[in-house]
Amino acid sequence: MPANENNAVSQPFKHTIVPGWLGPHLLAGLVLAICLAATLGAWRAARHDVDQEARAEFNFRAQELLHRLSLRMQAYTQVLYGLQGLYASSDFVDRQEFHVYVQSLQLGQHFPGIHGVGFLGLVTRAQREAHVALLRQQGFAEYAIRPPGDRAVYTPVVYLEPFSGSNLRAFGFDSYSEPVRHAALDQARDSGQPAMTGRVRLVQESGTAEQAGFMIVLPIYRNQMTHDSVAQRRLALDGFVYAAVRMGDLMGGLGDEHGASLALEIFDGERIDEAGRMLGQPFQAAQERSVVRAIDLTGHRWSARIGALPGFARAGADKPRYVAGAGLLLGLGLTVLTWVLARSRADARAGQARVLVLADSAQRSQAMLRSILDATVDGILVDDLHGRVISANQRFRELWQVPEQLDWQADGAALFAHIERQLVAAAPFRHGREQAPREGHERRDVLHLNDGRVLEQYTRAVQLGSERARLWSFRDISQRSHVEQRERTRRQVLELLASGAPLPGVLEAMVLGVEAGNPAMLCSILLLDPSGQRFRVGAAPSLPDFYNRAIDGGPVDPERGSCGRAVRTGQRVIVADIATDPLWRDDREVAGRAGLQSCWSEPVRAAGGKVLGTFAIYQRRPERPGAAQIALIEEASHLAGIAIEQAQSALALRAGEARFRSLYDHAPVALWEQDWSQARVELDLLTAAGVRDLAAHLLADPEQLCRIGALVKIKDVNAAALAQVGAAPGKDLAMLGLEHNFDRRALPALARAMAALAGGARVFACESSFSRLDGVARENELTLLVMPGHEASLDFLIVSTLDITERKRMNDELVLLASTDSLTGLPNRRQFMTRLEDEHARLRRDPAARATVLMLDLDHFKGINDEHGHAVGDTVLRHVAALMLDGRRKIDTLGRVGGEEFAILLPGTDIAQAQVFAERLRLRVAGAPVMAGAARIAVTLSIGMAALSGAEITYDAVLVRADKALYCAKRGGRNRVEIHAGGAPGRAAAQT
Ligand code: GH3
Ligand code: MG
Repeated sequence: MPANENNAVSQPFKHTIVPGWLGPHLLAGLVLAICLAATLGAWRAARHDVDQEARAEFNFRAQELLHRLSLRMQAYTQVLYGLQGLYASSDFVDRQEFHVYVQSLQLGQHFPGIHGVGFLGLVTRAQREAHVALLRQQGFAEYAIRPPGDRAVYTPVVYLEPFSGSNLRAFGFDSYSEPVRHAALDQARDSGQPAMTGRVRLVQESGTAEQAGFMIVLPIYRNQMTHDSVAQRRLALDGFVYAAVRMGDLMGGLGDEHGASLALEIFDGERIDEAGRMLGQPFQAAQERSVVRAIDLTGHRWSARIGALPGFARAGADKPRYVAGAGLLLGLGLTVLTWVLARSRADARAGQARVLVLADSAQRSQAMLRSILDATVDGILVDDLHGRVISANQRFRELWQVPEQLDWQADGAALFAHIERQLVAAAPFRHGREQAPREGHERRDVLHLNDGRVLEQYTRAVQLGSERARLWSFRDISQRSHVEQRERTRRQVLELLASGAPLPGVLEAMVLGVEAGNPAMLCSILLLDPSGQRFRVGAAPSLPDFYNRAIDGGPVDPERGSCGRAVRTGQRVIVADIATDPLWRDDREVAGRAGLQSCWSEPVRAAGGKVLGTFAIYQRRPERPGAAQIALIEEASHLAGIAIEQAQSALALRAGEARFRSLYDHAPVALWEQDWSQARVELDLLTAAGVRDLAAHLLADPEQLCRIGALVKIKDVNAAALAQVGAAPGKDLAMLGLEHNFDRRALPALARAMAALAGGARVFACESSFSRLDGVARENELTLLVMPGHEASLDFLIVSTLDITERKRMNDELVLLASTDSLTGLPNRRQFMTRLEDEHARLRRDPAARATVLMLDLDHFKGINDEHGHAVGDTVLRHVAALMLDGRRKIDTLGRVGGEEFAILLPGTDIAQAQVFAERLRLRVAGAPVMAGAARIAVTLSIGMAALSGAEITYDAVLVRADKALYCAKRGGRNRVEIHAGGAPGRAAAQT
């Protein structure tokens, strides 16, 4: 506190000359009267303040309540737009799709108040019967259009979610049958926009605890039909989506802790009358605590009456009483003091010491007065209307950062200049100075300071004794004002985003919003071009064009400009003085021409952290941000991040989705979108339980395997997939689960697929069979592809299936052809040799194993050919082959190894056992002559046999030995069996 100030305030005591006729009693009475008058004034002012505050608070709360209401209504409309999107992206939305979509919105949680969301079909008189029949056929045997009656067009509720409880009552209800709904539907149809009904009684109401209700409807037009004009819209109309809302539920939870002390009535339309009452009960409220506001909703108007209930804004209501109490106490104190002082003056005998004591006491009470003044939250200044400052409190000096050394009492002009230097615009303050306030009037101005603070300024006339003076009070409302401004901007930006406004418009609205709340700031949003190497001006409406042109397309250089550095470091960059900062070396000149002197730049990030651009704040003088401005720039860049990311991803999504959709739908390969997330949970449990070889474990327990398989959800399929399983185009996805289509033979592949996916594989391919819906099993080549980003959850897989049944069959046929002799159907020589080689390998591995090879040759076959012809010869060959097949075991291999030469491999058979076999065969052939016409052709066989040995290097050596034995049999007279045992073949059995 400057020393001279004390003197100024104590002046009256120093120089007052009290006339002699004014005795102590009269003087004290006079002081008391003045004090009482002053107290009365102060009390009135305090009451006025409290009233003002309460009114402001009330207006703020009322506005907030309506704002929340309108936000909620916007959210409802968004739900309908979402449904419109669902219809636009699909040729036909079936009940299940509608159900799944609405269920995913979780209405109860995210959109409280919506009682139901549904689809109204459009049914003409001619279609009516077919429509009812169709719905009944879908399982709703009781379905009917209600109310009954013959009308040209019906709009019955066809889908409605949640499809339960009171909503069931609305199923089939024809909204066209009721004029209020009819009007809204027609309005929506013709405008293509959402429309709201007036007050209706929802069909869902059952008579108890009824609430007024309304519906929001949005038209659905047929895809591929333009709907640019009213006529086209009428033609293209396919139905409506709608939300049914109950008023009471709508308002539930809208009020906050303050809202509880507000009363609210809502009326349909512009008038406050009972017929239109939608919500609330009549209430009593003081006139200044009640407002009537219009609420504009999607082409419809409501009127709201809001009032403060008793108990609203109690806080601060006691202030006038405290002021009055303090004033009275002070008055009494001063009166007593005056009396004592006057008495002492009158008492000539009073000593100097006593006077000193009194002076001290007077000073103390003055100090008390000052400390009360200093304790108020407002900055107070009193001047004499001519620029001379009379008094100011501590808070005033804090608010205006008045330096200690400023002798403002001697030089009021210096103080006012100091204040004006801190203002973004000096006009409101100057105005307050130049215009003397009128008696009994108070003037309010809002001052924006360079450092971002916002002060509320009140000026009012006061009478100081005979002198007129002016009382200034200043209050810091930065926080409230910034919060309000930011909230406004935020809301506006989010609304623009929700409405799908193009990005430049959204960014510009944001910049303008920030600038409106902070007049000293010039803002810009810079975006990175796709290469990430150059800047694009996203929005900078307040910066000069030449400056924006200089920045647009410029390189992102960490050594150039606040924004280049901010992008490259990912940090906020504060350049308080462009004129001296090395970062601005290259752009100093153009910034100077644009009048920019400081630049703070904050990176704008996507949710994932990727830098998308910068949000920059420029000012026309060197400046460093305070905490409030840092918060502002952070929030603005955050909001910009949301806007940019949303706009970019919407673009990418639209392009990507359309491309993918078309590929998916038209791909010749069958594609299945599957969700394995639930199966994954089960598989993880098994792994956690210590199962090592998942595939083997699952195969050993087919029941468990099938159970887990049934958890795989088919989310979507393309046309080729439907065709492949023989399903109708209606896509009943429930019928396409793995449990329906995987037959037993497919289980090994399923088990391997599960093990691979659980083990982190992103791709798995196999061949497997699965059944069509008609039960026919088909071989398929399957490829499971885990979509990127879904590796952990496995909730998005694309599975392609290719029917290879035909290919496989042809392949098998070829294999068979290549290995079979066409005349007899026996394996050919090549095939026999392969088997022989396998068996030889087996014997080499297992020396204890045995096998024997027989070589067989028809006796005098040439004679049969010659005598009966070649064809009969062939018949004989087939006849012998059939006899050979008849007596063999499954593991034996027969082969036609030459023209009329056969071979037999008998695994697990030693020579002695083989001999028994050979002998039996020989007898069977000899005992079964071939009948050719009348001729009876006797056929005999000669057989040579040898043991296959693992000790031999080559597998076909055994044939040479068997051949030798055969040769012996021929030489020995034919129709006999010879054995090649060890070295020289010896005769074992003979029969003639
Ligand atoms: P051997 O008792 O010494 O065996 O006297 P063979 O008459 O059977 O004499 P060989 O084995 O040399 O005669 C083989 C004959 O089998 C020669 C050929 O005409 C006949 N042949 C070979 N392949 C076929 C065939 O596919 N169909 C018919 N019908 N005859 C065949
Ligand atoms: Mg022969």
